[in-house]
Amino acid sequence: MAIKLAVSHCLLGEKVRYDGTDKLCSDILIHTSDIFNIIPFCPEVSIGMGTPRLPIRLDQIKKTVRARQIKDCSYDYTDSLKEYALNFSLKHPDLKGLISKKGSPSCGYNNSKLYSEGDIIKYDESGIFISELKRLMPELLIIDELKFKDECERTNFLKNLTLIETKKSPD
Ligand code: SF4
Repeated sequence: MAIKLAVSHCLLGEKVRYDGTDKLCSDILIHTSDIFNIIPFCPEVSIGMGTPRLPIRLDQIKKTVRARQIKDCSYDYTDSLKEYALNFSLKHPDLKGLISKKGSPSCGYNNSKLYSEGDIIKYDESGIFISELKRLMPELLIIDELKFKDECERTNFLKNLTLIETKKSPD
């Protein structure tokens, strides 16, 4: 059975971004499609936000981080994104790795902006979906598309994914 690798759908060329575009990363297709079982995901589309849609950002509200629409912060998608992460983890308990879109308030991994009262207070927050998924699946290996383009980072990531699977098999 091929190792399961989830990939942000926009990185595979799907036009699911808030502005109706994609962020195709051909390196992902070149280096993974023959080896892994690719699981595409787009949390924002999956929770019904539609495409195109008004953009969201991460806001610090007291001690919590919320994903809210920039134009009208009464639209808060945090709970839906967390629920989607839970459902995703239940649907793919054997998921081993994930390639995420850098900087996204849903998919970013330690590289999304966090705001407080309109000002950026952090550049290394994780998007709500990824943050919740990592909490639920702490062993999951995650890399963003910029690191994946780097040959050394990519080789390490792919090697570690393969090692996990090898260690799991008896003998
Ligand atoms: S970054 Fe994530 S939520 Fe945004 S379009 Fe890509 S897959 Fe969808």
